[in-house]
Amino acid sequence: MNKEFQEALPVIRRLKEHGYEAYFVGGSVRDALLGKKIKDVDIASSATPDQVRSLFSRTVDIGSEHGTMIVILNGLHYEVTTFRTEKAYKDNRRPSEVTFVSSLKEDLKRRDFTVNAMAMDEEGTIIDYFRGREHADLKVITTVGSPHERFSEDALRMLRAIRFVSQLEFTLSTDTLSSIRENAQLLSKISVERKTMEFEKIMAGRGSERALKLVADTGIYEHLPCLKTKKQQFLQLSGLPFHLLSANEERWTALIYVLKISETEQFLREWKLSNRQIEMIAKNILFLKERVNRKWTKQLLYESGLQCALQVEAVKNLIEGNVLSNEGRSELKALYQSLPIHSKNELEFGGTDLLQLSNQKPGPWMGELIKKIELAVVNDEVDNSKEAIKEMLKSCNLI
Ligand code: ATP
Ligand code: MG
Repeated sequence: MNKEFQEALPVIRRLKEHGYEAYFVGGSVRDALLGKKIKDVDIASSATPDQVRSLFSRTVDIGSEHGTMIVILNGLHYEVTTFRTEKAYKDNRRPSEVTFVSSLKEDLKRRDFTVNAMAMDEEGTIIDYFRGREHADLKVITTVGSPHERFSEDALRMLRAIRFVSQLEFTLSTDTLSSIRENAQLLSKISVERKTMEFEKIMAGRGSERALKLVADTGIYEHLPCLKTKKQQFLQLSGLPFHLLSANEERWTALIYVLKISETEQFLREWKLSNRQIEMIAKNILFLKERVNRKWTKQLLYESGLQCALQVEAVKNLIEGNVLSNEGRSELKALYQSLPIHSKNELEFGGTDLLQLSNQKPGPWMGELIKKIELAVVNDEVDNSKEAIKEMLKSCNLI
């Protein structure tokens, strides 16, 4: 049994000592079987949230009405969820109400895909009612029960299916695939935030190429923000190994560039990204457009900053079919280090110096002149010292 499960065993044992059933469930069981890195260890139990609370000294209520409590043990967090079903789906979205049930089997039955619907007991024995193990071996994502029913209950599952294709490098079973084709339009009922979370995982997974192709082929793209008219570009995009990019912002930058989106900020606002992300990505796009036509100069690098430049370089390499090498990265860093200044604050000559030197009143002319000085320093046309800058201003009749 993996270390992650061993560490969580005391939680299962304590529940069992008090007469409740308790199992490891969901993603951790799947990932252990696949030999992948285990993220969160989730537990399903017959104990209700109140019963869970009474058994452990440190718990956090993150949704007891849905049956979920966090148990903290040795600094690690475990979600313990009461066996439940999700009845009465409204509007093809996850229900707001759940019903607690007494059996593990019913709990596993409400889960989305067979590979996500396995449990493991404290001995390490896998409980697999829906052929999850067989499907894991075949590397196939297939719904628990009728795909049509399951996607009608919660349309987000269609994106989740493609997300697992990407993350696990699986394929979709034939009936799951054809059901997504038929039901894609139900995604219009799903909130943008939930779509964005899944789509980011689709772009990031090792199987992103196959998954992005599925987004195009199944018609799912039509129900994602601002992508309705982009099928051809989307297919082109799916030929790029997006997962080789390391940051989310890099992937959005590549997406926008390849899809030839003209209004970056508007596009990202529709996807409800944070202002900070929008700002970073918009800046990346600006410098990427420069970079595809010319090499980094000191001034360009000064204006972009190192983080943006590295991201732009990674994206440029990707769209040209390359990968940014460590050498390429080091070269760019070295060029950045070699800049005489990295921001205006490092300039040895400021507004006060300027006023002392001239007899003019403060005004917008100052900002313009400081900008000129800044660029002259960056481009090695003048030393970053008060004296040298004064000399330059005088000799160029700038003052
Ligand atoms: P990851 O490793 O990326 O977190 P995961 O399988 O743990 O993958 P989660 O979104 O964390 O995915 O969900 C945990 C489990 O809850 C899933 O494995 C699945 O059994 C169940 N689940 C999550 N979302 C849904 C859903 N929309 N419909 C049905 N079951 C779901
Ligand atoms: Mg998870």
